[in-house]
Amino acid sequence: MAKRDYYEVLGVEKTATDDELKKAYRKLSKKYHPDINKEPDAEDKFKEISEAFEVLSDSQKRAAYDQYGHASTDPNFGAGGFGGGGSFGGFEDIFESFFGGGSGRSSNPNAPRQGADLQYTLDLTFNEAIFGLEKNIRYNREDDCTTCNGTGAKPGTQPETCSKCHGSGTINVERQTPLGRMMSRQACDECNGTGKTIKEKCTTCHGEGRMVKSHSVKVNVPAGVEDGQQMRLAGQGEAGFNGGPYGDLYVVFRVEESPIFEREGSEIYYEQTVSFVQAALGDEIEVPTVHGRVKLKIPAGTQTGTSFRLKGKGATKLRGSGNGDQRVTVVIETPTDLNEDQKKALREFAVASGDKAVIEQEEGFFDKMKDAFSSGNKKKRK
Ligand SMILES: [Zn+2]
Ligand SMILES: [Zn+2]
Repeated sequence: MAKRDYYEVLGVEKTATDDELKKAYRKLSKKYHPDINKEPDAEDKFKEISEAFEVLSDSQKRAAYDQYGHASTDPNFGAGGFGGGGSFGGFEDIFESFFGGGSGRSSNPNAPRQGADLQYTLDLTFNEAIFGLEKNIRYNREDDCTTCNGTGAKPGTQPETCSKCHGSGTINVERQTPLGRMMSRQACDECNGTGKTIKEKCTTCHGEGRMVKSHSVKVNVPAGVEDGQQMRLAGQGEAGFNGGPYGDLYVVFRVEESPIFEREGSEIYYEQTVSFVQAALGDEIEVPTVHGRVKLKIPAGTQTGTSFRLKGKGATKLRGSGNGDQRVTVVIETPTDLNEDQKKALREFAVASGDKAVIEQEEGFFDKMKDAFSSGNKKKRK
């Protein structure tokens, strides 16, 4: 399948700024992320988008792409130049300046490189996120082989410089093309581009120099972290190559929800049910907070939905000092399943309050009772 133009893939103009590229990439990668989009071609689209962004977001790669198109991203591109053609001599210089010329990865396989970054999801309870804690976490990461210390060679032996590529990791290959003979540079097939050959391989890692090791690290979870926030632990990722530094570990916090509290930043929200008698007459009650139970005065005449603030009883502020507050919203409960005594008391309350509807109802009720009694009496006397 012919490759689509990278600008077209991202739906941006050739003159797009870095910001515009980023925006377009974010939007599309979200849309086609295989975790989100289940269409059969989503994964291919996602790869296409990622590839386009990788090239266009790198100013050197973008410049090369603008000039030479997709050929510029071919790993074999640019290294050789045209054999024999003096007039094309300028190419090589341009290519060298784009693709390495000493510092690049392809031209020096022995240059130190940083190891890969890793991500770890750390589950926290509601309270752990509020108060912070120290947690040991354990995970697997690629590290230097313990047996050979990362050389890949059997202990007591050393890797040797590859005799075919003399340690450069690349070889020049001549090819016949319609334009004539052409030289191109390829990864050395003798050493697979590493520039080294190992006569006797380490038996633990089979010459890879690397192995997966279980690694543990102490994480100081700061008080007040929120769900989805992450922290970087420098150097806790995978081992580097050729003496390069370790990658980093990104710890992503996943905070459990509370069955009774809601949290927003350092503010905690709680709903307290009170009886209408408490609300009407006022009361002092105890409410739970993450800091323990706290007394709360309900003033007489409190309406449902009224919110009270318990200062400093919220979560620790991640930035700044001190705590947020807890907000208590009062919800007045209407009683159900009243017994006769309670009903009677309420009717009396209503009558005392001058509630006309109840008064009339009450009178009607007593009238009926009287009728019932008198007719009953009549019957008895018959
Ligand atoms: Zn080894
Ligand atoms: Zn080689």
